[in-house]
Amino acid sequence: MALPHDYHLHTYLCGHAEGSPIQYAGAASSLGISEIGFTEHAPMEADDFDDWRMRLDQLPVYFEMIAEAKHAFADLTIRIGLEIDFLPGYEDWIRKLARQYDWDYLIGSVHYVSETWAVDNPDQIEQWSMNDVEETWSNYLDRLKSAADTGFFDVIGHIDLPKKFGHRPDTDIAALYDEVFDAVNKNGAAIEVNTAGLRKKCKEAYPGLELLRAAYKKGVPIVFGSDAHSPSEVGYGFAGAVDMAKDAGYDTYCTLEKREKKIALI
Ligand code: ZN
Ligand code: FE
Ligand code: FE
Ligand code: ZN
Repeated sequence: MALPHDYHLHTYLCGHAEGSPIQYAGAASSLGISEIGFTEHAPMEADDFDDWRMRLDQLPVYFEMIAEAKHAFADLTIRIGLEIDFLPGYEDWIRKLARQYDWDYLIGSVHYVSETWAVDNPDQIEQWSMNDVEETWSNYLDRLKSAADTGFFDVIGHIDLPKKFGHRPDTDIAALYDEVFDAVNKNGAAIEVNTAGLRKKCKEAYPGLELLRAAYKKGVPIVFGSDAHSPSEVGYGFAGAVDMAKDAGYDTYCTLEKREKKIALI
């Protein structure tokens, strides 16, 4: 079985990943993956916003390194995108980022549930004991829906990220996710099956099977992403992710080029 396209790859530019595009491309090529996409953590307007993203002045290096990888692996299709943080109030900045290049696609991710706390940041894990778990999830889902509502993004990233360290809500959040899925559909976007969760304490992909089933029932398209932060993580857990997607009902996923979506068989 050919593995699906891996649409969520980082590079050393974000400061917490290793490897350059040519190494990620090499890894994909040896796994027999035919298409990949780079989605480095997008710059913020202020370079000191946090310490885990590429700077705006590094965009030319990003493009140049990806061009080198394309040149070295001519058989491999390589897409260029960004993983953009959605925070309310940053809409103008996101519009500006979207105009910086002829992107193949943009992933919109919610990491920040407040101006300063990124729920998945291991350096801020103490925040989980200082904040109410239900409230954190509710803030997260609020922002996730707003992100989908903006229509800025082709893909909404890791849609249940707050479970990363094992924090799960007690309340039923299915109805809130249905609203998120409606917003995704209304804007012609997709969600990710992101296998990074398998490498974390939550030990399941973002989303897991139950939530993916709900997405399928709503007719939400998917892409696959490893969220690789090292070349060895390219295609991570993809065979299992494909099984899970099929279990949820999916037999297709999306490919993206110049922000146009096409359907492929899994
Ligand atoms: Zn990262
Ligand atoms: Fe992310
Ligand atoms: Fe990522
Ligand atoms: Zn990510």
